[in-house]
Amino acid sequence: MAQGGINAVLSGEDSIQKHIEDTFNAGGKLADKEAVRILCEHAPETIAWLDRLGVPFSKCDNGAFLQRKLGGAKYPRACYSQDYTGLKLLHTLNDYALHAGCNFLNEHFLLDLLVEENSCHGALFWDIKRGAEVTVYAKNTVLAGGGFAKIFGPYSTNSTAQNGDIVAIAHNNGVKLSNMEFIQFHPTALKNSSILISESARGAGGKLINSKGERFVDELQPRDVVSRATYQQIEKGESVFLDITHLGAAFVEENLPQERKLALLYEKVDPLTDPIPIKPAAHYSMGGISTDTKAQTSINALYAAGECADTGLHGANRLGGNSLLELIVFGRIAGKNAALSCTDTRHKTLTKTITLPFEGETLNFYPWRHELSEQLYQDASIVKDPAKLAKLLASIRSMKKRIAQVAINDKNLAYNTELIDLLEFKNALTVAELYVESALKRKESIGAHYVG
Ligand SMILES: Cc1cc2nc3c(=O)[nH]c(=O)nc-3n(C[C@H](O)[C@H](O)[C@H](O)COP(=O)(O)OP(=O)(O)OC[C@H]3O[C@@H](n4cnc5c(N)ncnc54)[C@H](O)[C@@H]3O)c2cc1C
Repeated sequence: MAQGGINAVLSGEDSIQKHIEDTFNAGGKLADKEAVRILCEHAPETIAWLDRLGVPFSKCDNGAFLQRKLGGAKYPRACYSQDYTGLKLLHTLNDYALHAGCNFLNEHFLLDLLVEENSCHGALFWDIKRGAEVTVYAKNTVLAGGGFAKIFGPYSTNSTAQNGDIVAIAHNNGVKLSNMEFIQFHPTALKNSSILISESARGAGGKLINSKGERFVDELQPRDVVSRATYQQIEKGESVFLDITHLGAAFVEENLPQERKLALLYEKVDPLTDPIPIKPAAHYSMGGISTDTKAQTSINALYAAGECADTGLHGANRLGGNSLLELIVFGRIAGKNAALSCTDTRHKTLTKTITLPFEGETLNFYPWRHELSEQLYQDASIVKDPAKLAKLLASIRSMKKRIAQVAINDKNLAYNTELIDLLEFKNALTVAELYVESALKRKESIGAHYVG
């Protein structure tokens, strides 16, 4: 879904030092300096590697990379493929992995990790298609299961996959987590659907205006600042819009084609002629599975990379364009370290059994899932009030206790979507509890965590 781009200093007045400073400053100066250094120093060779693999980056006629400015960056630094950057990266890497003979177990849902005496020996999956458990033993395991901002349900820009399963399962197995209180809100999600309108629109000169047509914030500040300003306008009863009407049809067609399509399709607004109605929505989880700069977790033979991992490099607020970069830089580090430390040819065949919720009292849990997202958005979003957080925590814990007991109606094994929905909801409750607990512990306002 990533649209805007992937950061790297390639030339000109920009420098790696400035990329480091922007990342550190956007994160409320809380970021891990070593992780930030590794990220920014590896960025140019990462882009060169992706280019060699065939990612169709947007380029000038002379072959130089086009780069756009995103919020919180001193210079245009994000390389892109129109506004389909994530899709193009994913397709190219998927092709490359298929070509390299990687084995994919599609439609397998992670149920649990095989952890014993502080070491991981593989994982237990549910084969959705057949409806059967599958154990995969491994000498090393890399978790790359994405973030958890979708716990906000319809108030999130994320797809349903970003439910936090992997973070919840890691936590249940004693893997250390960190910075769980930091969920970033993106200021420009479509008002009705929460579908993202990329920061590249503001980078190109898009303005944020209220119902009176007034601009109310410097649009290219980091996301936490712009989201709070947008939220404050909405709290005052204003409607908020992203105005790109002045950019012109040719520019939009070349650089922001997807944004226009999304606004037309989901908001029934043509951005060439009218401002786009927007609202802030939960977008990115800075925290997650705590890793060192070798992508190693607190458990032996277990690595993590991408949005599910917390190297500490985003601090309290992520800079646009740094997430795609992080998952490639630290994904490669995780892969290399996992491969290089695989010297022993044996693995331990440990068995783990799990009770799936087929038996017992059934309950329609779907309204509960909706209720969780509503409560999170009301009481634990852009501005957090400790009293409301405490009430919310009690409510999540009571929901979690109740949901732990329930069974599903559909007893079929193959393609049982109700089973997956319930398992995901349980994981979402675990992650929501951890998010609110951590938010209660952090008393000061910093980055995406604002106490008011
Ligand atoms: C709309 C949008 C726009 C964005 N734009 C940008 C951008 O321009 N630049 C940028 O740097 N970042 C951007 N981001 C952030 C960035 O795209 C994400 O952080 C990044 O894609 C996360 O990649 P990942 O590989 O860590 O996780 P994901 O891409 O989320 O992949 C996780 C995978 O794990 C799988 N999974 C989850 N649970 C289970 C389970 N229980 N069992 C089995 N598999 C499971 C999922 O199906 C998925 O395939 C954007 C994000 C969004 C939502």
